[in-house]
Amino acid sequence: MTRYEPANSLETPRFSGVRTFMRLPNNRDLPNAAAAIVGAPFDTGASFRAGARFGPESIRSASHLLRPYNPSQDVSIFEHLSVIDYGDVTVVPGFIEESYAEIEKGLAEIHQASVVPIVLGGDHSIALPELRAAAETHGPLALVQFDSHADTWDAYFGKKYNHGTVFKRAVEEGLLRPEHSIQVGMRGSLYDAGDLEESRRLGLELLTTDDVRGIGVPATIERIRDRVGDAKLYVSFDVDFVDPAYAPGTGTPEIGGFTSREAQVFVRGLRGLDIVGCDVVEVYPQYDGPGQVTSLMAANIAYELLTLVAVRRSGA
Ligand code: MN
Ligand code: MN
Repeated sequence: MTRYEPANSLETPRFSGVRTFMRLPNNRDLPNAAAAIVGAPFDTGASFRAGARFGPESIRSASHLLRPYNPSQDVSIFEHLSVIDYGDVTVVPGFIEESYAEIEKGLAEIHQASVVPIVLGGDHSIALPELRAAAETHGPLALVQFDSHADTWDAYFGKKYNHGTVFKRAVEEGLLRPEHSIQVGMRGSLYDAGDLEESRRLGLELLTTDDVRGIGVPATIERIRDRVGDAKLYVSFDVDFVDPAYAPGTGTPEIGGFTSREAQVFVRGLRGLDIVGCDVVEVYPQYDGPGQVTSLMAANIAYELLTLVAVRRSGA
């Protein structure tokens, strides 16, 4: 059995070669993989700015500094996990339902092969076909969503499918186990006083940024872990969870958010949970700041998620 791991940057320089995630091999050998990095370069679901179609390539490029041993979890990822960069799923720019069908088809094959996808967006609308594909194999899932928006609005411009409505659709389609799902980090202006109530009406738990600041980060992590329990879990990380000072390259930035350090701590706090799929979405490189800080943060969050999959496989 082949075990796929990144090229060794002690042997060849990390700026050389083709820019896959972490310098992983680019192939679709799912039988020999346990996790796969998958790009979903789709941004037709965005309600404001455009440009998340360039998210995957930008995150991959920023990932080349990442090293295989993660000291925060004391794990050498690729000793436990064969990982490929699957490349990108097919999308049809401008056509959301056609893209949904393609994204779902691509990811369904990955789940059926018992491979955990780590999806690089793309705007957040891609979460719906991701969850459709995951639920097809695993049944309804727990969701942990880090985001400054709940994305449970009903429609934009009279249309049901876009990056602001995905989790309402996901509950309606029976893809989630709301009683095990939690949304964390909501803040910023709304259309109506009742907007966030919609999540609770759908059965999801919701903690605003103010709630998190009230109880603190460690207590929030405990709330998340209690909520998810042993359920199969999908983790969705919208980079606007993080303050625009750290993550300006996104579609709908909201000030007053978390630091990139806190984002790492939240994701690391999911250690041991049964993650069957995850994503990092809403990176718009055109709006990024000096040093491509948003892509760098997103690459590091994907790395922490990959680490969690390795920890779970290692049985530690
Ligand atoms: Mn979102
Ligand atoms: Mn958001």
